[in-house]
Amino acid sequence: MKLKYLIFALTIVWSAASRTQDRSYALAIVDTLTQESYGGRGYDEGDKKAANFILRQMQQIGLQSVKGSYFQYFPLSINTITDSIGLRLDDRPMVPGDDYLVLLSSPSIEGKFELLYLPADSSGNLSLIMNPSVYKDKFVVTDLNPQAFRARFPFRSKGVIYLKDKNFFWHISDGREVSGRVEIYLRKEKYSTDYQFINIHLKTRFQDPYITQNVMGMVRGSKYPERYIFLTAHYDHLGRMGKRTFFPGGHDNASGTATVLDLARYYVKHPPEYSMVFLLFSGEEAGLLGSFYYVNHPLIPLSQIRFVLNLDLMGAGSKGITVVNGSVYSKEFKKLKRINRCRHLLYQVKARGKAANSDHYPFSEKGVPSFFFYTMGSESAAYHAPRDDASNVHFTDYDDIFKLITTFVKKL
Ligand SMILES: [Zn+2]
Repeated sequence: MKLKYLIFALTIVWSAASRTQDRSYALAIVDTLTQESYGGRGYDEGDKKAANFILRQMQQIGLQSVKGSYFQYFPLSINTITDSIGLRLDDRPMVPGDDYLVLLSSPSIEGKFELLYLPADSSGNLSLIMNPSVYKDKFVVTDLNPQAFRARFPFRSKGVIYLKDKNFFWHISDGREVSGRVEIYLRKEKYSTDYQFINIHLKTRFQDPYITQNVMGMVRGSKYPERYIFLTAHYDHLGRMGKRTFFPGGHDNASGTATVLDLARYYVKHPPEYSMVFLLFSGEEAGLLGSFYYVNHPLIPLSQIRFVLNLDLMGAGSKGITVVNGSVYSKEFKKLKRINRCRHLLYQVKARGKAANSDHYPFSEKGVPSFFFYTMGSESAAYHAPRDDASNVHFTDYDDIFKLITTFVKKL
């Protein structure tokens, strides 16, 4: 363990003296942030530990605070699963994270309940028994997705099990409020229509407010100190689903956090013309809450921001990058394409339109020009799953992405 830290420290000293981008530094940051002790950087103290780690990095790098602070606190409300979850179908135990996921809007529950499978016809209609009391104390099992099911099922039930054969991802944005029933995603192959009962133990606690924080630091510009370029990424992730299951969040988004910190090291050594702000958000996984909070409580007026470059899912790269807002800010996108072509960098730089899928979005909605970069390639396949750990981060074309960003910033 001690040797590991020594190597880590030596790596930093060595690379600070020798080169610009530093993939090994970025990998070391990812290694730290994905450790179990960081609890998947959820809103249950894991975010605080990560924020303090990022703060120490920023101070070591030599970033200045923004208006006297490195932290911007904000409140959110979130449901949290506090205990280990127990789930058995008849007598068969199911594995949390692998076999099933609990929707975070679920309330606490304890006991044994009858299962009722409701087949849907080809147009998605359920064959319902029109008596509400039939469903009251049961768990309904369905092949429909939550949206379709909720639209077609008019009764209250104790719970719902959605059978899934693809898109088996956990999300936490539905945990901003608690609903009246327990909902579960179950892998389809784990279910048999012979099962009659579910045995479940689930303990949740609704935290309102939970105080979390954005973390930021800056480098003052040499030519336009009052004009700013923001390099951003979210450092929060899904946290824990009960005591036994945690989501390390390597590709999503320890990778972007590490890249932003490495870029900060570069700009401390190579002072830019514009002032640069390195802004790492919390609250993204709960619905872009940190970036929405920032644009509504900006520490630097939004009108002084020349450009925002947001990095999320940076662990792949073999197939290049996608640029959200690429077709919105076409002048800047052409610049990016030209740099990539002339300098023979990435496999491809692909434009996409507007999308509310990461922290660039609150900025562009306020009229601040912004791109969101995400890497492409099947090497980082795990998404919103316990397998998205440090081994899911490859930084395949890291040096070229780094060069693309620093050259683009220079040409803005
Ligand atoms: Zn995510």
